Amino acid sequence: MKQTRSNNRIQKNRIKAKQNRTRKGRNRITKGGATTPEHPHVCPICLENLTPESVRTKCKHEFHEKCLIGWCKTQEEPNCPVCRSDIKTTCTEIMPFDSLDIFRYVGPGKGVRSQSWNSTRGEYNYEKAMEMIHNPKFDVNIRTDLGDARGEHSLFFWLVENQDKELLAELLSHKDLALDTNEVAEHSGKKWVVDLLKQHKKVPKSLKKLMM
Ligand SMILES: [Zn+2]
Ligand SMILES: [Zn+2]
Repeated sequence: MKQTRSNNRIQKNRIKAKQNRTRKGRNRITKGGATTPEHPHVCPICLENLTPESVRTKCKHEFHEKCLIGWCKTQEEPNCPVCRSDIKTTCTEIMPFDSLDIFRYVGPGKGVRSQSWNSTRGEYNYEKAMEMIHNPKFDVNIRTDLGDARGEHSLFFWLVENQDKELLAELLSHKDLALDTNEVAEHSGKKWVVDLLKQHKKVPKSLKKLMM
């Protein structure tokens, strides 16, 4: 009987010690900052401490870059997870950008869109393609083979193939565009291409005579 009582006491003490440990632990977390505006040192998305590389939005809320990228990806019109402010600019800035993604959105132009379009490459999306061309991170001289036996070609080549006049005009108006003379020569028989090249003063010097 005596023994049991003392055992109980020991157990009670153990429980007390455990509670103290837990409480101390909680205090430590709270000191570091727990959530949102009252605790600015913690990422409001994952509740972990922020690092010096964290991202600050215009509404002055801070997040881990990878946490905010994850959030931006799920939002059609990205809002701040804390205050719901428009954070589209921040999302655009931090999103990993791959110029090759444009080939998911370019497809047969209006003239040929009725033909079967290989949807495994993506969904034709004129607005998204246009948005990518306008992004300062976009490499206008990107090349890919698109799984085509003819090998690697530039975006210029594929837009000509797709007869996508609007996107081609947009591409040609880009100051950093360096056209591949061989590709231009290959398409020098297409009047609409030549017209666009002339319009945007992008006829390669060596082909000027050919395109007169
Ligand atoms: Zn985070
Ligand atoms: Zn905010």
